[in-house]
Formats: sequence, structure tokens, C-alpha cells
Amino acid sequence: RPELVIRDLHVRIEDREIVKGLNLTVRGGEIHALMGPNGSGKTTLSKAIMGHPAYEVTGEVLLDGVNLLELPPDERARHGLFLAFQYPVEVPGVTVANFLRTALNSIRGEEIGVWEFQEMLLEKMQLLEMDESFAGRYLNEGFSGGEKKRNEMLQLALLQPRIAVLDETDSGLDVDALKIVGKTVNSMRSESFGALIITHYNRILKHIRPDVVHIMVDGRIVRTGGPELADEVEEKGYDWVRAQVA
Ligand code: ADP
Ligand code: MG
Ligand code: MG
Repeated sequence: RPELVIRDLHVRIEDREIVKGLNLTVRGGEIHALMGPNGSGKTTLSKAIMGHPAYEVTGEVLLDGVNLLELPPDERARHGLFLAFQYPVEVPGVTVANFLRTALNSIRGEEIGVWEFQEMLLEKMQLLEMDESFAGRYLNEGFSGGEKKRNEMLQLALLQPRIAVLDETDSGLDVDALKIVGKTVNSMRSESFGALIITHYNRILKHIRPDVVHIMVDGRIVRTGGPELADEVEEKGYDWVRAQVA
């Protein structure tokens, strides 16, 4: 059962502290939602966990006891953290299938057979009810927000990480894309998978029922509760949390 432990995490950029001593544990079998008003530091937190080089990070991010902060991003991924691989837009002629096979090989550290991969890809696409033609699409053809999200969800389903941190901005995603995110995460629910879904709105939480909801304000988690906390945010916005904190 995987375990992601974040302990007293501080993240700074350009001498400004954005994340101010954050503590959070996500275990296998659990889906956590991290909500909070714009500018509270959610995306900064997610980038720090991924290993984005722009941030100065102190504290601990342990995945099964290994301090991820000491590892470059690709090794974090090999330890079971999901990183949505970005593709270089200037590479022409790369299909979704090619791209995903490269990502899988990189995580596994060995080449998967072409037919074995095809079978796996097809199985995941059927599971997610994605049209088979999507695998043959070229990445550099200019994907819409929804198509990028489908590509990312296929990566998630194929790579089968132990812990995923998904920063769902919700913007530019159509209802179908949101459904695919929900379907993917729900299909992965098991004791060997845990997720932290970061979101401003609770639109995505209509598709994924979280076990635990946290609210982040000004770089800290200020409330933790069950799914009803997300309903409360939808009803009342964030001002009441801010008021309680102040
Ligand atoms: P959220 O995702 O919760 O909306 P962010 O993590 O994007 O919050 O931003 C938190 C704060 O950090 C904001 O005030 C934002 O302006 C600041 N910030 C984020 N990225 C940078 C950056 N690269 N340089 C300077 N300030 C940044
Ligand atoms: Mg501190
Ligand atoms: Mg954000």
C-alpha cells in the first residue's frame, strides 16, 4: 500500500514563500481533494512535488519512505509518482500511441513489445470508452484542452503509478473530458493507488467522490474533512473559511 507523506513543506519562488509549512498524507486506496481559492498555492504545491526546477523547496515529500525532494523528476516517476509527461511540440509525426509507448518504456526502464503495448493500449482505451482513432492522432496537430486531458488520462491508466497528483484547473475542459478524468481515476481505485486531486471548483468532484477533502488558504491546509466539505464550498464559496482562519 503506497504512502505519500508531505511534512512541513515550504516552497519559495523569487524570495516569496508560497507554501508555508504544509502537512498531508495520502495512502493507497484513498482519493484526496485539495481545494482552495485562486492564489492559495495549489499549483505551486503540485509543481514542487513533481520537481519543477524553479522552486526552492524545504521539508519532506516521502513516497514509501523515499524522499522525493532529493530525486530528479524522472526518478520520482520511477518510484511510482505520476508525472504527466509533456511532449515537445516541435517533434513532427509522433502519434499518441508512439508517445505513450515512449513514456511507458521510460518508466519501466525496458522496452515493451509492440504487440503487448498495442493490446494494453486498446484495453485501456476501451475501459475509458475512448475512440480507437485517438491513438493514431498526431500530438503536434494542435490538441484542444480536452484532447490533452484525454492523452494525460491514457498515460495515467497505462503507467499505473502508485500515487498521482492531478492539478485540475477545470478551465477549458468540456463535460466529456471531465467524465474521462472521473472514469480514469475511478477505474484505478484500489489499495495500491492513491490520488490527490487539486481543484478550485468542485466540478470534477461530481465525477470523483473523494474520501478526504482539504482546503488550502494562503499556503496552508486550514480545514480537512469528508466529501461534505466540498459541498460546503460549493454552497458558500471560500469566504467563510477565510473568515474562520482570520
Ligand atoms: P493556485 O494554484 O492555488 O491558484 P498558485 O500556486 O498558482 O495558486 O499561485 C500561488 C501564488 O504564487 C500566487 O500569488 C502567484 O502569483 C504566485 N506565483 C506562482 N508562480 C509564480 C512565479 N513563477 N513567480 C512568482 N510568483 C508566482
Ligand atoms: Mg514550518
Ligand atoms: Mg492553480
